[in-house]
Amino acid sequence: MTIDVPGHAEPLRPGKLLCIGRNYAEHAAEMKSEVPDEPMVFLKPSTALVRDEGTVVLPPQSEEVHHEVELVAVIGTGGKNIAEADALGHVTGYAAGLDMTARDLQREAKERRHPWSVAKGFDTFAPLGPIAPPQEAPGVQEAAVRLLVNGETRQDGHTRHMIFSVAQLVAYCSRVFTLEAGDLIYTGTPEGVGPVEDGDQLEARVEGLPPLRMDVGR
Ligand code: MG
Repeated sequence: MTIDVPGHAEPLRPGKLLCIGRNYAEHAAEMKSEVPDEPMVFLKPSTALVRDEGTVVLPPQSEEVHHEVELVAVIGTGGKNIAEADALGHVTGYAAGLDMTARDLQREAKERRHPWSVAKGFDTFAPLGPIAPPQEAPGVQEAAVRLLVNGETRQDGHTRHMIFSVAQLVAYCSRVFTLEAGDLIYTGTPEGVGPVEDGDQLEARVEGLPPLRMDVGR
């Protein structure tokens, strides 16, 4: 899948979706997990991507799919070993996103010390909202982050509580992975995660960015 990004004549192709776990202390606490001392990164395949006003498809393998609302940074200029001071210059846009999670499969994987790729990587498990250029979204590090299910607020957090900032995450990830134009960084979810059901309507909101609306289906 390619994504249209404001300011780019050609669509970008997200090669990798870098997702950050436990980047809000309250969410780490609700998962009974420790707050990491460096970013905890996992990957989703690009086939998990689905755009605004699409459908999250509940897979038959799971009986407990959770919403995780997240601020997403879109990489515009790639690089390796990017300095934190330069990191935001590599971000070409921001969007509201969802890190959909098969919580039952993740729990099982944790118990077996298996990776999370299956629990996190199903098709449509990475909804991405409309992308705003950074100049239209100067306050992303000071933004309310909300998730509504059928109009009811389920998650109500704030990006100021992120343990690692967008700049720190870009710099950290680039020391491991060569970042490429179109790569996406899902920056972690605040507390309040919970299950979604067939027929639910989700709305992910990051203050200052266009909302992301998704249906849930089978
Ligand atoms: Mg997450």
